Amino acid sequence: MKRFRQAVWDEPLLKELSKPGRVGSTFPVDKRVRARIRDPLSLVPSSVRRESVNLPELSELQVLRHFNRLSQMNFSVELGMYPLGSCTMKYNPKVSEVVASSDGMKNAHPLQPTETVQGLLSVFYDLERSLSEITGMNRFSLSTAAGAQGELAGVLMIRKYLRDHRSARDEILVPDSAHGTNPASAAMAGFKVVKVPSDEDGQVKARTVGELCSDRTAGMMFTVPNTLGLFEGEVSEICEAVHQAGGLMYYDGANMNALLGRARPGDMGFDVVHLNLHKTFATPHGGGGPGAGPVGASKRLAEYLPVPVVSKGKDGYYLDNSLEHSIGPLKGFVGNSGVLLRAYVYIRLLGASGLADVSSLAVLAANYLWKSLDPEAFPASHGKELRRKHEAVVSVKSELPGAAMSVAKAVLDYGMHAPTVYFPLIVHEALMIEPTESEPVEMLDEYASALNEIYARMKDRTLGEAPRNASVGKVDEVKASHPLTLKTHW
Ligand SMILES: *Cc1c(COP(=O)(O)O)cnc(C)c1O
Repeated sequence: MKRFRQAVWDEPLLKELSKPGRVGSTFPVDKRVRARIRDPLSLVPSSVRRESVNLPELSELQVLRHFNRLSQMNFSVELGMYPLGSCTMKYNPKVSEVVASSDGMKNAHPLQPTETVQGLLSVFYDLERSLSEITGMNRFSLSTAAGAQGELAGVLMIRKYLRDHRSARDEILVPDSAHGTNPASAAMAGFKVVKVPSDEDGQVKARTVGELCSDRTAGMMFTVPNTLGLFEGEVSEICEAVHQAGGLMYYDGANMNALLGRARPGDMGFDVVHLNLHKTFATPHGGGGPGAGPVGASKRLAEYLPVPVVSKGKDGYYLDNSLEHSIGPLKGFVGNSGVLLRAYVYIRLLGASGLADVSSLAVLAANYLWKSLDPEAFPASHGKELRRKHEAVVSVKSELPGAAMSVAKAVLDYGMHAPTVYFPLIVHEALMIEPTESEPVEMLDEYASALNEIYARMKDRTLGEAPRNASVGKVDEVKASHPLTLKTHW
């Protein structure tokens, strides 16, 4: 099989490359200027001179090479396959980047008078409408900066709605396959978390939910398809059971890539949803950059959304803080506009039929890759007979402890990124593989052969310590926090 290699080098710190007196560029000072002001350096206060601030001293070319090398040591979707499950690491069309970084957009200031940013507000207005259409919700608020913040907004909306209706309900149901942010958000909003067990096929059953519901049930947070990559077959019945018990339904939309243009949480019976624009809609997830986790609500909860939302009046678009029951603002201004713009361009570029193609291809790719894996080595964790949605979760079959981690580290030596490991928590030695719609079939073949080959080597005990072909070898997983060093010492 083909082997991709990562760039491998040991790049020193700028500080280590520094030589006293080395400079990037110098400007010749005109004789006449020099006659007027003498040595220009004498005008620089001594406290900020090179000698005093202790900056690294390098030539321009050295600096360029340093940063280019660092960039090559970073793995990215544009370098190789990056099937990090649950994160939806898809290719992001360059046209979205171009629009988001155009002068008018990137130089807009959040405190500019609204009449000077009508174009941008019209985009946000249309985006709110598009997301409502895609999810079957009544209205959206764009301000929340991540999925987790969208979740917090959603459960705070549920809390306020119940208080307004004089209800003391204080329990939120969360399936055991859920992302950790679900129980965390519910707890932050002051709810008690009730764990819902999934069955042996990785499904939540309406009966189980019904049995856990009581007059203390405020609602349920539900991820569909779930983090095992499986559609929840009883989703409508579950929504009904919770509603009947007097609770509200929260949809975790992180896996919306599987349903785009095919099914809508609003039609399934959900009351509040969040989307991860940085997963599903064209902003690369990861790297600690900005995100956007807009929240949508059904008619019943629309007035509870965080403000501002964008409304249209007779004088044009404006930031609307007037929602009657709003939980208030959760973040400064209207949201992360660059991420919102990218999502808008992505949606407009694809249109309704293009979005449906995204989910078809993402699901096809996940099933194809899953079926290309050696089933003896990587048995499906749950629901062997069920078709996958956007991702496949398998167990690594081995008596060796840390088998999933060994496989993940070995993948790096093939110049491809590891899958997500040890999540969901209910899967033993989990690999969670999400190829997304971006990968050509040849790449899926390469990835499956790499995993199968790694497994054979692991079985023969010839795998060795990996990664050996990456700039950074096997890292000490504990050292990042232990001992914690907060001081820099040069
Ligand atoms: C990523 C993810 C979240 C949290 O979203 P962030 O944007 O990372 O805060 C929540 N639920 C699921 C299922 C996810 O995959």
